[in-house]
Amino acid sequence: MTVLSASEPGRDCPLCPRLHDFIAEWRQREPSWFNAPVPTFLPPEGDAAVQLLIVGLAPGLRGANRTGRPFTGDYAGDMLYSTMISHGFARGEFKARPDDGLELVGTAITNAVRCVPPENKPVGAEIATCRTFLVPTIARFPNLRAVLALGSIAHQSTVRALGGRVAAYPFKHGGQLPAGSITLFSSYHCSRYNTNTGVLTEAMFVSVFSQIAAFLQK
Ligand code: SF4
Repeated sequence: MTVLSASEPGRDCPLCPRLHDFIAEWRQREPSWFNAPVPTFLPPEGDAAVQLLIVGLAPGLRGANRTGRPFTGDYAGDMLYSTMISHGFARGEFKARPDDGLELVGTAITNAVRCVPPENKPVGAEIATCRTFLVPTIARFPNLRAVLALGSIAHQSTVRALGGRVAAYPFKHGGQLPAGSITLFSSYHCSRYNTNTGVLTEAMFVSVFSQIAAFLQK
């Protein structure tokens, strides 16, 4: 098994055979794409600067799986990064490319499942297996105070990664739950589907980030 560090899988992580095979197929089809587990996006100041960790579901096929940076290259990043910039969690300009110069501020972004799943749908075993990396990712930041989970799957996997029971920490948009030394915030995922169907509006998303900003200023 190729593992770079406890929190970052190697490019050929074999732990989920279905996802490993799916990526192998896309390496053949699109050799110029990233096509590997997408690493956690960190601020330039490093791990000690991180107070907020954002946990998404999984890389999008033509988004992070293509570009190698979370939420970069497809629709989901547009609302996420514009909201982060407006709340001081990122600086620069988001141009949907990993070389756009965008920098995170006191924030890191990862995914509950690091490899792109077919049809954006990881199965339960894959979500559980990739907690091998989510648990140490949460643990690597010595000054972490808040985690924002995007969507119910990321929320549930984060609860489990924190050692909690899902029944005791139900998913709720705008939810704010203390979990040990960390506070867990939750939002509907900023996917095109959720925004097109009105499940998540920009105002609802902004409200979550305002809540987190106020919490971190305390
Ligand atoms: S989803 Fe996670 S555990 Fe599964 S193969 Fe990819 S990096 Fe490894």
